Amino acid sequence: MATGRDAVAVFDHAYHGRTNLTMAMTAKNMPYKHGFGPFAGEVYRAPMSYPFRDGLSGEEAAARAIDVIEKQVGADNLACVVIEPIQGEGGFVVPAPGFLPALAEWCARNDVVYIADEIQSGFCRTGDWFASEHEGVVPDLVTTAKGIAGGLPLAAVTGRADLMDSVHVGGLGGTYGGNPVACAAALGALEEMRTHDLAGRARQIGAIMHERLTALAAEHSVIGDLRGRGAMMAIELCEPGTTLPDPVRTAAVSAYCHAHGVVTLTCGTWGNVFRFLPPLAISDELLGEAFDVVSEAFRATA
Ligand SMILES: *Cc1c(COP(=O)(O)O)cnc(C)c1O
Repeated sequence: MATGRDAVAVFDHAYHGRTNLTMAMTAKNMPYKHGFGPFAGEVYRAPMSYPFRDGLSGEEAAARAIDVIEKQVGADNLACVVIEPIQGEGGFVVPAPGFLPALAEWCARNDVVYIADEIQSGFCRTGDWFASEHEGVVPDLVTTAKGIAGGLPLAAVTGRADLMDSVHVGGLGGTYGGNPVACAAALGALEEMRTHDLAGRARQIGAIMHERLTALAAEHSVIGDLRGRGAMMAIELCEPGTTLPDPVRTAAVSAYCHAHGVVTLTCGTWGNVFRFLPPLAISDELLGEAFDVVSEAFRATA
């Protein structure tokens, strides 16, 4: 509405949700899209910065993505670029430093709306209120949900006033918009995050996880990459010394953890990424206990 353009650019490995438009924007077919079409046109996919797999600097990866967008879409047709500052379902892919700022800068120069999908990475998870802050990127629009209301159903689109106000009166709405109970829960959740400095706590959790996972990676060559930020961290399992995904071992480790009382979640385009997203209210003791089980799981399935 604000730009008068139709095209939307998204990235490899992206996950943006399960409405019809966001399924088109999501990269992975199974289990998110399979059989649920037809999908919207005018959604274009650009290569993501994926340091473990492409070895490119942030600037190089941004130049590659921008080239695809310019050649295949054209800036004048492009309404927006939508990106997860750290990808969630797609494998906790952390873009190389410089990638997001270069992309945002290109968007600003071309009057393209830069939209950060912070639904998974937002609300203190990565050790900042929002993952975009880490490199000082200020998006034009931000999507949030998940952590926003401590589990009550709420989602938000927050943006520059000139963008939000470009819609005619009555054009933005919905049956459940602004549900008072969910909004009260969000205010309570935000207050908890602020008073308990959960961003700081996410950094502490991240330091503990990084230490445990570094030791684990030294012991098990199947762990090809360790990445993430704050309390959003992952390991990618590959055949030793290669980038060939090992989803079988990943599933085996996960099954062992489930059987021993730790709820784990895998992710990634090839299902070979083990992600760690502990609650920010977890104690050091419980976190340590969980990682003891994860370590046992790697030994038991070796
Ligand atoms: C969870 C999530 C969404 C929303 O997904 P739904 O399945 O539609 O609730 C959108 N973007 C990201 C990055 C997410 O992690």
